[in-house]
Amino acid sequence: MDIEFSCTKCGERLTVDAAEAGKTDQCPECNQSLIIPSLEADASPASQPDAGTDIEFSCPKCGQHLMVDEAGAGETIQCPACNQSLVVPSPKVIEFACNKCGQRLSVDQARVGIEVQCPACGERMISPSDV
Ligand SMILES: [Zn+2]
Ligand SMILES: [Zn+2]
Ligand SMILES: [Zn+2]
Repeated sequence: MDIEFSCTKCGERLTVDAAEAGKTDQCPECNQSLIIPSLEADASPASQPDAGTDIEFSCPKCGQHLMVDEAGAGETIQCPACNQSLVVPSPKVIEFACNKCGQRLSVDQARVGIEVQCPACGERMISPSDV
């Protein structure tokens, strides 16, 4: 079983074996250090198992929860619930410092609240919801 995820820096699609989950990998495109997400990290019942990196946001008009593939960032879509025209926001990256060694870490906002591992010292911590 493979895990698919996107580089948090350049968006390159990466595929790794599920056994590598939680380990640190390096993007072949930009050499960004990446924590390989685990498949079961996303506990949201609405999420699709085969989805890549999705942008999640809410319709400002009706509050409908929407998920759009990262490739759709900046494009205009229509809310399926109320037909409001919406511009898909860019995925946000949250930056924080390792609480052990101070290494700057960045995670996709969609992955806040899950455990990440510091690529510098190996310390495991939960990514904060906001900084
Ligand atoms: Zn990259
Ligand atoms: Zn709507
Ligand atoms: Zn660290």
